[in-house]
Amino acid sequence: MRALRLMPYGSDVPSTGETAVAPNMPDYEEARSRFSWAAARAELAGLPDGALNIACEAVDRHADGPLANTTALRFLGRHGGTRDITYAELRHETARFANVLEQLGVRRTERVFVLSGRIPELYIAALGTLKCGCVFSPLFSAFGPEPIEQRLALGDARVLVTTPVLYKRKVAQLRERLANLAHVLLVGDEAEIAEISGVHDFKRLMGAAGDTYEVAATAPEDMALVHFTSGTTGAPKGAVHVHEAVVAHRATGRIVLDLHPGDVFWCTADPGWVTGTSYGIIAPLTLGVSSVIDEADFDADRWYRILQEQRVSVWYTAPTALRMLMRIGVEVAHEYDLSALRFIASVGEPLNPEVVLWGEEAFGMPIHDNWWQTETGGIMIANYRSMDVRPGSMGRPLPGIEAAVARRDAEGRPILAGDGSLELVTSPDEQGELVLRPGWPSMFRGYLGEQRRYERCFAGGWYLTGDLVRRDADGYFWFVGRGDDVIKSAGHLIGPFEVESALLAHPAVAEAGVIGKPDPVAGEIVKAFVSLAPGRDPGEELRKELLGFARKRLGAAVAPREIDFVSSVPHNRSGKVMRRLLKARELGLPEGDISTLEPDA
Ligand code: AMP
Repeated sequence: MRALRLMPYGSDVPSTGETAVAPNMPDYEEARSRFSWAAARAELAGLPDGALNIACEAVDRHADGPLANTTALRFLGRHGGTRDITYAELRHETARFANVLEQLGVRRTERVFVLSGRIPELYIAALGTLKCGCVFSPLFSAFGPEPIEQRLALGDARVLVTTPVLYKRKVAQLRERLANLAHVLLVGDEAEIAEISGVHDFKRLMGAAGDTYEVAATAPEDMALVHFTSGTTGAPKGAVHVHEAVVAHRATGRIVLDLHPGDVFWCTADPGWVTGTSYGIIAPLTLGVSSVIDEADFDADRWYRILQEQRVSVWYTAPTALRMLMRIGVEVAHEYDLSALRFIASVGEPLNPEVVLWGEEAFGMPIHDNWWQTETGGIMIANYRSMDVRPGSMGRPLPGIEAAVARRDAEGRPILAGDGSLELVTSPDEQGELVLRPGWPSMFRGYLGEQRRYERCFAGGWYLTGDLVRRDADGYFWFVGRGDDVIKSAGHLIGPFEVESALLAHPAVAEAGVIGKPDPVAGEIVKAFVSLAPGRDPGEELRKELLGFARKRLGAAVAPREIDFVSSVPHNRSGKVMRRLLKARELGLPEGDISTLEPDA
């Protein structure tokens, strides 16, 4: 294998090309047969006495060696300008943040949240938090006050790092209800921050803090990260991940993303979602590569320019973005010099076969789909560089991961045999629920405060993913759909219940039912059906008012894009909104079994 020289990028990194670098995993079958998590764990630096800390693996282990002056993170500002942080600098910056937390009296295991765009301070805070044994939880900056409050409360936030604008617009109004939120640190203009009461200036605290810190000797099973995800009912769930997860982050970065020394990696996901943390922060750093982080939102020309100018070699992105690029035509891709690119992967939603094929035309290589979810903490099923891509398939299970397809009963629950084992599909192409054998390092260890909900995710010795799939005769998995009503819009998981609850808070709304409506670009968009309170009449003005109302509370990422007025929202006899029926009606499909429908619907 020809290793690339390690060099800070911006310098003349040789074009890698598909053939220049041998894949980290040249043979899938062989790797599967000899893979062990213990061996993957042995590749980490570790800490004395079996301790393990993500920040040590991501930052400190590199900061003294040959990578010290290599760029770890390159930030591209929204309005131009870049900021590079080397591994050595990242160690100092994260040490400062760890010292800041200590000086504020924040103790190990307490939760530090960050609500911001993709700015350097987010990454520094994340890693500094882990460094001192606190727990990091990211919040998506496009959330409105309601999802923010729910997550800060559920996660028992002790510290919040955010910006003056986000604080004033979304957090200040919640402050008195969040009694445990002891410290808010604002990143921004000093004078502006000085005028806000009850907050600290992030920069001032960092400037006064020491830049060395001995990484906390956390145990592998100590809580490290909390990622919130949405369910069909009730509040969002806080999926708990531990320091041991780093074993899987690093292994999948090598095996699936094929990261090599010298690579310039661009994960376009926001750390507010699990991909943006596992692969936007942790995995590339553990492998000593240089990451590009763009503060701005999607813009086709900007993205192509970044791929070209930053000489991105490995690109991890999402179907919605790829579909948007595809829409503007393959010629646009050809206007740019993308010769540094050697591997493209996609995650988060189904990747249509046309997009995979378009990738061949646009970039001269296929797009490698892979599958995972917040609960799995890392990639579980993938198309690998050394294997032919089957367009439309999510690929095959990671070495070290046992995946199967389970039969479901009419209620959608997996079927248990008399001996307690799960009834698995044996013939190819039969549809069922994707299940995984527990025990991989990045698997969630619980939902915060919801043991029952966590236990319901397991049956017969398997973890139930909630996704419907089929497996073909060669062992490739194909996504069929979600087994529940959760909506996937532009890669973001949205709980219909959260949206329905927000709409119900409007005095004109009597009932609300929310579905994901198929959309050619975003996969699905959030669509709401509402019935009105007596005396309220449907109309364009009210529709606009409701759209604005929901957007203000939920934020642009979660709010419905369409609202229809209906005379009543169908409920079943136990009072649950029959979202499947709403969806079938919307799409003109057969209504299926409606025997449990309340008569007046
Ligand atoms: P999240 O927990 O927000 O990462 O969302 C996880 C869910 O996204 C999965 O359970 C799937 O429903 C969906 N998903 C993730 N990756 C893929 C993929 N490659 N193909 C189809 N759906 C996917």
